[in-house]
Amino acid sequence: MKPNKTVLSVLALMVLTLNASAQRQDAGTQVIDGIEAKRQAYADVALQIWRYAETGFQEVKSSALLESRLADAGFSVQKGVAGIPTAFVASYGNGRPVIAFVGEYDALPGLSQEPVPEKKPASPGAPGHACGHNLLGTASMAAAIAVKDWLNAERRVGTVRFYGTPAEEGGAAKVYMVRAGLFRDVDVAIAWHPGDSNRASLASNLANISAKFRFHGIASHAAAAPDKGRSALDAVEAMNMMVNQMREHVPQESRIHFIITSGGAAPNIVPDFAEAYYVARNPDMKVLDGIWQRIVDAARGAALGTGTTMDMEIVGGMYNLLPNGYLAEMQSRNLKRVGGVKYTDEERAFAEALRKTMLSPAQPLGSEAQILPPETELTPASTDLGDVSWNVPTTEFTTATWVPGTSAHTWQATACDGMSIGIKGMMLAAKTMALTGVDLFTDPAHIDKARAEFDQRRSGFTYKPVIGDRKPPLDYRK
Ligand SMILES: [Zn+2]
Ligand SMILES: [Zn+2]
Repeated sequence: MKPNKTVLSVLALMVLTLNASAQRQDAGTQVIDGIEAKRQAYADVALQIWRYAETGFQEVKSSALLESRLADAGFSVQKGVAGIPTAFVASYGNGRPVIAFVGEYDALPGLSQEPVPEKKPASPGAPGHACGHNLLGTASMAAAIAVKDWLNAERRVGTVRFYGTPAEEGGAAKVYMVRAGLFRDVDVAIAWHPGDSNRASLASNLANISAKFRFHGIASHAAAAPDKGRSALDAVEAMNMMVNQMREHVPQESRIHFIITSGGAAPNIVPDFAEAYYVARNPDMKVLDGIWQRIVDAARGAALGTGTTMDMEIVGGMYNLLPNGYLAEMQSRNLKRVGGVKYTDEERAFAEALRKTMLSPAQPLGSEAQILPPETELTPASTDLGDVSWNVPTTEFTTATWVPGTSAHTWQATACDGMSIGIKGMMLAAKTMALTGVDLFTDPAHIDKARAEFDQRRSGFTYKPVIGDRKPPLDYRK
């Protein structure tokens, strides 16, 4: 049968309508669909980094994998920045604005685990991705690539960057990268972290300073000539005693922890060397600085009283996070647009089995499908993103990559980070970040508002890295 004229014109009209609706497809849908189309490729990257499980500053294969994926996508990659072989910056585009996506990829020692809901190390004693940084780096990379694809398609001016930031767990690479000026021209930094719920964050956390206090005394026979000796261990004990007395007289949200890393070789030798490793924290760097000076005074007093000498090496220091409410609201809107994590029957069974291994999990099962209101309560932990946040308007949020109730740094977290539940949370994070990136490029007013809040929150503040001129501690995990 030959189609008549009316049928043909109806068909032509349908084609036109379909075209128009495709064009009307908004930027957000484009980036969400773009990331979804590469789900398998991104899952492969995240699971490969999960298997590498490289610890801080040793992330040679993990950083190389991300670098190569970004180079394949058209980014120019600057490797080994800030004197750190596994740190890098991948950049695409020209001019302003400059939007940064921040990614991590280090694992934790001793937390190896199979992706199963009972404790079963993949390799006993080996490192594992118990903080989900395999997902963290991959999602931030996926967002950077999606925004780059969109910038390219729209022929827009602007720069999108991915910051490859190693050794978040103790090595604090971001602090060295900030010190090297790598974030200087960034307009907004977007970060996220794996978690057991989906929520933007208005919360700050704890600034921290850490150092090794080394005491030097005089060795002698502990029975035959104790009067000829001066014990370095006595000095460590005297210092710890004074700091423990001090706990009553510091603001109660402060934290002070120490270990003794060297206390002598044998009880019948007066130790001529002893060392204590301290970490102190407070929500406010200025307050912490005052507490820290009192800790140093305790160390000096301990040396004086025991006839020993003391030297101190600052190991690290990071600022508390400076939150940005405007950016948190943007993230929250975009989280809602993408929607929470939905488990299959198999994943729900995994989640139920995993929750049986936890002591009173805080979040109920099912909450992974919801978007919670932005977090406002202080997080009692520290991150090197803090230093970024005092230099550039920064936002961080979490998605449910872990079964509700799971704590970071546990075998349960490693298990989730290596299977489909982790990947689902990662995809939600990637899409949310990409949407926020597109929003920032589309309307410069967003950047102005985030900047205004940033300026107001940090008024009168001058950034000074706590680490001074210290070199990155590249061997801290060796
Ligand atoms: Zn961690
Ligand atoms: Zn982490």
